[in-house]
Amino acid sequence: MADERIWDLSQLVEDTNADSIIARLDRLVADAGSFKRKYQGKIAALDARGLLAFLEERDALYLRYEGEMMYCQLSYAANSTEAVPKRLNDSVRKAGTKAGQEMAFADIEFGQLLKGSPGLVEDTLLKEYRHYLEKALAKVPHLLSETEERLIMAKDQNGVDAWSQLQQDWLSTRTFRMDVDGKEKELAYGEIISFYSDPDPRKRKDANSIVYTNLGKDEIVWASAVRSICSDHLEMCEWRKYAHPLDPSLLDNDVDRATIDALMKVMRENADVYRRYLRLKAKLLGKEKLGNWDLSAPLPNAPDRHYSWQDARRVVTAAYGSFDPQFADWVGEMYDRRHLDAEPRKGKASGAFCSYWYVGKSAYILQSFNGRRGDVYTQMHELGHAIHAYLASRAQKLSNFSAGSCIAETGSIFGELLLTDQLLKESTSREERLAVLDTVWDEFGMAAFQVSARFHFEQTMYEAIKAGRFLDGDTVAELWTKARNDVYGDAVEWLPEMKWEWTMKMHYYIPNYRFYNYPYVFAQLFVFALYRLYREQGKVFVPKMRALLSAGSSRSPADLAAEQGFDIRTEEFWQKGIDQAEEFLVMMEKDAGV
Ligand SMILES: [Zn+2]
Repeated sequence: MADERIWDLSQLVEDTNADSIIARLDRLVADAGSFKRKYQGKIAALDARGLLAFLEERDALYLRYEGEMMYCQLSYAANSTEAVPKRLNDSVRKAGTKAGQEMAFADIEFGQLLKGSPGLVEDTLLKEYRHYLEKALAKVPHLLSETEERLIMAKDQNGVDAWSQLQQDWLSTRTFRMDVDGKEKELAYGEIISFYSDPDPRKRKDANSIVYTNLGKDEIVWASAVRSICSDHLEMCEWRKYAHPLDPSLLDNDVDRATIDALMKVMRENADVYRRYLRLKAKLLGKEKLGNWDLSAPLPNAPDRHYSWQDARRVVTAAYGSFDPQFADWVGEMYDRRHLDAEPRKGKASGAFCSYWYVGKSAYILQSFNGRRGDVYTQMHELGHAIHAYLASRAQKLSNFSAGSCIAETGSIFGELLLTDQLLKESTSREERLAVLDTVWDEFGMAAFQVSARFHFEQTMYEAIKAGRFLDGDTVAELWTKARNDVYGDAVEWLPEMKWEWTMKMHYYIPNYRFYNYPYVFAQLFVFALYRLYREQGKVFVPKMRALLSAGSSRSPADLAAEQGFDIRTEEFWQKGIDQAEEFLVMMEKDAGV
C-alpha cells in the first residue's frame, strides 16, 4: 500500500510524463499570447458584456493550466535535488515569466477602463465581480498615466527591486562562526537561527549575539537599502496622491483606517498582558528576568511526547470534528487521497505550506513531520488552510477565491486553537498542559505583540524621513529599540547588539509591499476574538465560521464580520481576542502555581 505520508500529485494532471507537461506549459504561453492579441489596446473601450467576457476568459486561461503549474512547483518543493523536478520547476518559472509578460498590459488597461467608466462596477451583469471591481476602482484615483505606469515598472527593476534583492543575497551569503559543543562551526544564517530555540541557554545566547554582532558590521548596507526603499515609497505616495504611507496597503488588504486604529490601540493598551506572560515564562525557566535569547526557549521538564503519524491524524481529526463533522470529513479526504507530503527527506523545502487547488476544490500540504507536538500544530494549521480552500472554492469564482492577507489565516489559526482545546483535554500532567499553553502564548506573543512593534517601527521610519532625518544605521536602530521597548517594557533584558534586529527582516525591504506587519496582528487577534465568541455562543457560531471561510475575498473583512454580527471597527471586538489570550495565561498561572 502506498505510504500515506507521501503525496500523490498525479491527480493534478492528465499525464505525468515530463515532456507532455512541458508541452502544456508551452501552450500556456501561446494562449497568453493569443489573449494579448485579442485584447491589447481594446480593454479601455469594453462595455459590461465585454468586460465580463474578458474577466472570465482570463480566469479560464489560468485554470486551464493550474494543475500543470502546481504539479511542477510541488514536485520541486518535495524533491528539489532530483533531475525531473528541477527541469519541471525551471520550465514552469520560465513559462510563468513569459505568460506574465504577455498579460502585463491587462492590469494597466483594466485600470484605465474603470477610470473612464466607473459605472461598470454597479452593472448587474458583473454582480459576481462586484467587490473585485470595487477594489480596483478604489485604486483608480491613484493611477498615473499609462506611460508613467510603464516607466515606474522599468525604474523599479533597477531601483527598489534591486535594493531588495541585494538585502536577500547579502543575508543568504553571510556565514557565522559558533562554538557548538567544543567544536567551532561555520554556519549559514538558516542554520544558526535554529539555536534560538535550543534547550541550552548558552547556545541560544551565543547564537543571538553572534548573528546580530555580525549583521551590525554591515549596517551601512542594510541602512542604505531600507532608507532607499522607504524614501521611494514616500515619493511614490506623493505621486499617486496617497495622504499617508499606510494607505496603499489598506487598499491592498481591503481594510480601513478605523479598523487598524482600533486594533493597534487595543494592542498598545494591553502590552502589560504580554509582559505578564514573559514574567511567568522567566519564572518557569527559573530566572529573575527573561533575556531576549530566552524568548523562544522551550520550557524545562516539558514532557517529550512523541506522536506517531496515526496519533497525529486521530487528534487532528478529532479536533476539527469537535467543531464541525464536515471539517473532519474533508480532513479525512485530504489524508485518504494522499494530499499531504509529510515524510522528512533531503532536498525537501523547509517549513510548511498549503497550496490551494481551485479546480479540484481541494488543496495540497507540504511539511516535514517528525512526531513532535509542534509538527501536529503545523499539520492542524495547514489543514485549516485546506478547509478554507474546500469552502471558498465551492462558493466563489476564481477572482474572489483567495482571501486577503488579514483573513487568509482564519481557518488555520482557528484550527490551532481547536487543537489546543483537544490537547488540553487529553493531557495527563500539569507540565504537559503548561507546555501546550506555552506554545500558544509564544506564538501569540510573537505574531500579535512583537509584530505590532514592527508596525510602529515602520511608521516612525516614514515620519523620520518626512521630518528630514537621515536614516543611517544608528538612527534606524534607535527607532527600532524605541518601538520594541514600548511593547516589552522592562520584562526582557536585551543584548545591546539586538538593536540590529531589523537588519535581517526581509519584509522591511520588499518594495510595493509596505506594512506587511499589521495583517499578522489582525489575523491573530481576529481569530482569538472569534474563538472567544465560539466559546460564548457554542454551536450557533459554527455556520458563522463557515460563512466567513466560504466568502473568500468577495466582501471586505469589515462587511463579512458585520454580516455575522460583529464590528471590527470597535475596540470591544478586538478586546475579546485579548480576553481569550488572557484566559490562557490565567490557566498557565494556575498550573504554574503563581
Ligand atoms: Zn498559515
